[in-house]
Amino acid sequence: MALATVTALILLVGQLAAVVGGPELPNPGSAPLTREQQIQLGLQAAAQVYKQMPVLPDSSPETQYIRRLGERLVAQIPPQYSWPFEFHVIPQKEINAFALPGGPMFVNVGTITAATNEAELAGVMSHEMAHVYMQHAAKQAGKQQTASTIFGVLGALLGTQGALGQLAQAGLQFGAQGLILKYSREDEAQADAVGAIIMYKAGYNPTALADFFQKLAAQGSAGPQFLSDHPNPGNRMEAIQREIANWPPKNYRTSSPEFEKVRQQAAGLRVYTGEEIAQGAKSGEWAGLNRRNGAIFRASAGTDSAAPASDESVGGTRPVSLQSVLPSSRLVTSNLGPLKIGRPENWRVMAPAQRGDDIRIAPAAGVTGNAIGYGVLINGVQPRQGQGMSLDNLTTALVQAMQRGGNDLRIVGNMQRITVAGVEGRSLDMESTSPFPGANGHPQKERDWLVTVPRTDGSVLYFVFVAPQAQFEQLRPTYDNMLRSVQLQR
Ligand code: ZN
Repeated sequence: MALATVTALILLVGQLAAVVGGPELPNPGSAPLTREQQIQLGLQAAAQVYKQMPVLPDSSPETQYIRRLGERLVAQIPPQYSWPFEFHVIPQKEINAFALPGGPMFVNVGTITAATNEAELAGVMSHEMAHVYMQHAAKQAGKQQTASTIFGVLGALLGTQGALGQLAQAGLQFGAQGLILKYSREDEAQADAVGAIIMYKAGYNPTALADFFQKLAAQGSAGPQFLSDHPNPGNRMEAIQREIANWPPKNYRTSSPEFEKVRQQAAGLRVYTGEEIAQGAKSGEWAGLNRRNGAIFRASAGTDSAAPASDESVGGTRPVSLQSVLPSSRLVTSNLGPLKIGRPENWRVMAPAQRGDDIRIAPAAGVTGNAIGYGVLINGVQPRQGQGMSLDNLTTALVQAMQRGGNDLRIVGNMQRITVAGVEGRSLDMESTSPFPGANGHPQKERDWLVTVPRTDGSVLYFVFVAPQAQFEQLRPTYDNMLRSVQLQR
C-alpha cells in the first residue's frame, strides 16, 4: 500500500511537471508601427465601426458575456506582450469577428448563435486575439511601407497618406460588410497556432477552433466574409492536432450554462444583415442608433492621444468663455509619430477624421464641427517627387493651399525665422474669422500663427496655433511652451 502510494505520487508529480511545462506563447517579434501607433490606429478604426455599424451597448448581456470570456483568454497572455483588449458585439446576422490593432475586438451576434459551445466561440476569439498578439496588421503595413507611411499618421496636404490611408496600409478598410481585414495564409496558420495555445492555457480544447472553421466552410453562404478575411491555411484541423499532440492532457472545459443562456437570448435579438448594415452606414443611421442605445465608443485604453475626432458640435455658434478653454499649465507629452509635443493636460489630441486632415490639439469647448477656434492644428506636407523647394517657398505654397481651401486667410506681417527642436523653421502670422462669435455675439477676428519646420526627408511639419485675436496673447505663453517641447523623431 505504502509503495503503491509513493509510485502514484511520483507519477502525479511527473504529470504536474509536464503540465507546468505546457506550451508557451512565442515572442511576437516587432512591427514597424510603435505600440502607441497601433493602439491609436485601432481606436480610430473602432470609432469608425461605431459610426458605420450597429453595436450593442456594453451593458447588454451578450457584450457582458463576450467580455468575460475575452478576459479569461487575455489572462493567458504574458503582460509584457499584452494589449488593451476590449470587446464589443455587433447585432449582425452573418458569422464574423474581427480584432483591430492594439486590441479592440468585435464579435457578431451571428457568431454567438452559430457556435455549438463556448469552446468554439473561445476558438474564434483566441484566433482573433492571436492576430493582435502577433501584430499582423501592423506587420502588413510594414511590408507595403514607404518612407512616408509613418509620417502619414499625421495626414498631409500634398499627397502623403492620411489616417485612412494608414488604415488601408494596415489592411483595414470598410467594405459592404463592414471592416475588412485581409490576412495572408501564413498569418492564418500563425493565428491558429497562437490561438491554440491561448485556448489550451484557458482550459479549452484547441481543436474547437478548427471545428468552428470547418463548420463555417460547410455552411457556405453564412460565413463567407469571415472565411475570405481569414483564408484557410490548409488542413487547419490536422495542423492544430499536430501542434497539440504532445501537450500534456487536460480536462477541457467545453461549455457553460452562461453560454447556453446568452446564445438562447441572442437568438431572439434584432439582428441586421451585412447588406442592411452597409445601407445604414450610407444613410448614417447607426451613429444615431448606437447613441440612443447607449452604445458609445470610449477609448478606454488609457492612451492620451487616441480620442477620436468627434463630429458633434461642442461649442455651437455661441460665444466661448475664456474660462472653458484656458489651458492647464501642466504639459503632458503626446507622441504623434513624427514628433512628440507637450500639450496642456486638459486639452485633447483629436486624430484626423480622414485622409489629409490635421491632428488637432484643443480644448473640447474650442472646437465646433470641423472648425477649431482655440488650439493647434498639426500636419505635414511633402513637395511632389523631384520638386525640391526652399522652406520659404514651401511655406508660401502652404499658405496659398490653405487660402484655396476656402479660408478667408490673410497674411499679416513678414515671414520670420524661428528655431524649433534645434531646427530652423519659419513663423508667419495670419488672420481670419473665428468660428466663434465674440462676447457681443458678432463675428470676431482670429489670429492664426503658422510655424513650419523642415524634416530631413524634405517634408515639412507645420503647426497653426489658433485663438481669437482678442485672446491670443493670453494663450501665447502656452503656444510658446508647446513649441519649445517639440521633439522631432526620425
Ligand atoms: Zn485569421
